[in-house]
Amino acid sequence: MSVLFTIMLVSLMYLTILMINYFVKKKVESDEVKLYGRIMITTFISVVTEILSVIFVSRYKDFPITALIVNKIFIISIMTYVLSLSLYAWTIFYDKATEKLMIKNKVKKTYFIVYGIFCIGIILLPLNFYYDGSLVYSYGASTNCCFLGAGILITSWFVCLMLNIKKAVKKKLYPLYVFAVMASIILLLRGSHPELTLISSTEALIVFLMYFTVENPDVKMIQQLEIAKDQADKANRAKSDFLSSMSHEIRTPLNAIVGLSEDIGTFKDQVPPQVKEDSEDIINASQTLLEIVGNILDISKIESDKMVITEVPYDFKKEAETLAKINAVRIGEKPINFKYHIADDIPYELLGDKTHIKQVINNLLSNAIKYTNEGAVNFTVNCINQNGTSDLVITVQDTGIGIKAEMINKLFNKFERLDVERNTTVEGTGLGLAITKKLVEMMGGKINVQSQYGKGSLFMVTIPQKISKMTGPEKTEESTGGFERTMSMPKVDPNKTAAEQMPATTPTIAPPPKVEGIPTVGSYGAKKILLADDNKLNIKVARRALSDFNFEIDEVYDGEQVLQKFKEGNTYDLILMDIMMPNMSGEEAFKKLKEDPNFNIPTIALTADAIAGALEHYKEVGFNDYLAKPFNREQIKEKLDVLFK
Ligand code: ADP
Repeated sequence: MSVLFTIMLVSLMYLTILMINYFVKKKVESDEVKLYGRIMITTFISVVTEILSVIFVSRYKDFPITALIVNKIFIISIMTYVLSLSLYAWTIFYDKATEKLMIKNKVKKTYFIVYGIFCIGIILLPLNFYYDGSLVYSYGASTNCCFLGAGILITSWFVCLMLNIKKAVKKKLYPLYVFAVMASIILLLRGSHPELTLISSTEALIVFLMYFTVENPDVKMIQQLEIAKDQADKANRAKSDFLSSMSHEIRTPLNAIVGLSEDIGTFKDQVPPQVKEDSEDIINASQTLLEIVGNILDISKIESDKMVITEVPYDFKKEAETLAKINAVRIGEKPINFKYHIADDIPYELLGDKTHIKQVINNLLSNAIKYTNEGAVNFTVNCINQNGTSDLVITVQDTGIGIKAEMINKLFNKFERLDVERNTTVEGTGLGLAITKKLVEMMGGKINVQSQYGKGSLFMVTIPQKISKMTGPEKTEESTGGFERTMSMPKVDPNKTAAEQMPATTPTIAPPPKVEGIPTVGSYGAKKILLADDNKLNIKVARRALSDFNFEIDEVYDGEQVLQKFKEGNTYDLILMDIMMPNMSGEEAFKKLKEDPNFNIPTIALTADAIAGALEHYKEVGFNDYLAKPFNREQIKEKLDVLFK
């Protein structure tokens, strides 16, 4: 067996292995991948027909027709191979550049015409065979026609690559140059030395090299995944940006709506009762809207991995009690006995994400109250303290509408609202529990629910929190806030319904909660305030909220104007600085002011996109405090108390 024939057989062997490996693999879908597959198949045909032609030409006398047909197929397969390789070169050279698509299509058409003409030539022109016992090959007009056609195709894209060498190098297309050179050399060699029957082996070698350079399916898949990931990241960022700016846009007018409606309430006797009532409804509706915007913002942050769990020292008992009291207000006229029990052994100061723990508890409590028409709502917190960690066990139990067993696993899906027919009067978005579950899990905790339809539900959350201080200053008075406190913690018995597990107490109607009234006129003395906000309506609302205090207020509309005021020699007792302002942001203006070592005017950051962690951020920048818009009289008063009292 001649060396050349052995090379053909070896080529066939590795090509077969490569093809099996290639075709069983999952591949990305693209034109070039399809073309590479075609190149592989034509190569396979070339190798097989070249081997067969050696066999049949050596027995030409016995199989003259078969030898001719096999040889012609072999020569056409070379032409087809060159066509596919040329199309491949054009495809990866002009990928995705849609404006070049026309060129690509024209080239494709021309290539097919050239291919067709030369194939006809190959079929019609005569072919000769040589056989001398050890050398076997075909030659003549038919093979020359093939080499000429193939040469034209290869030269055309090789020249194009040479003319665009910069682009080709940038796209790392150098293997293409190598393939073009290899293919040209072998065609020229075969033309001048027809006994060198290495064409199909060279084709196979190029296929092999392509596999390990430009066409590795695994690498392509990874590249594709990276591109997809990049695009998804970009889209997600765009979504988050859109949501945060949308929330800003919504909060700004809400600021005006809430502020001005609250103002109507202060005109007490001067407005008809109907107007007062309407303004209260407007405030409530706006507050719901704010809550929804906040929820959408939260879920989008969680989904884009932007939600951060922070660690701050906080007094859990105090926070939980405040939440209990705030939620008791939500009961309104409903005959619900609300009880809370916060265990005494909960450490005085815990280290954890105060904001999000509060959000979790608040969601559970507000749901319990929302979905309970009568009976009881029990809120208890117990803990297990060990190794510097306090495992909080928070349960919220109600005798409300309950949840159908088949609905329980849908409960934590976003935008899932169960039993909508019964819930038509209850406002909600179906985001609360989805956020709650994610937050609990992000804090390393777990949430469980038991419920019986029509009887009630029990939500239980366990969250580990680091212990910061075990004990605090001695308490002087019991701050039960006027609510009954029970010391028994309901044990969760999986065999019983939430309602059955309720402590057996006679339901008593909770006393109507004390709603804080409008603050009395502040006594902070004569103060001069600089109010910076680009939205005139916001300024009007802020002025109204500050109107009780008889302050002198200067207003400006961007960061540059803030600096200008100081350049003009003005001085203030307080700056209320909006963050998002044109020309120069509030944060930048504040940083500029801070460059002066003598600057010590208390400054409160005002922002519309109230996000968790914002306070920490603004404090870090150096602001004294942070106020989320819309703010009302009480909220600003709270801040003024800290600063001026
Ligand atoms: P929302 O209350 O805004 O609709 P949530 O995610 O907080 O959204 O709750 C999802 C759904 O789960 C609610 O629509 C309600 O059907 C049901 N659900 C939540 N809490 C309770 C509860 N304590 N009792 C009965 N059903 C509840």
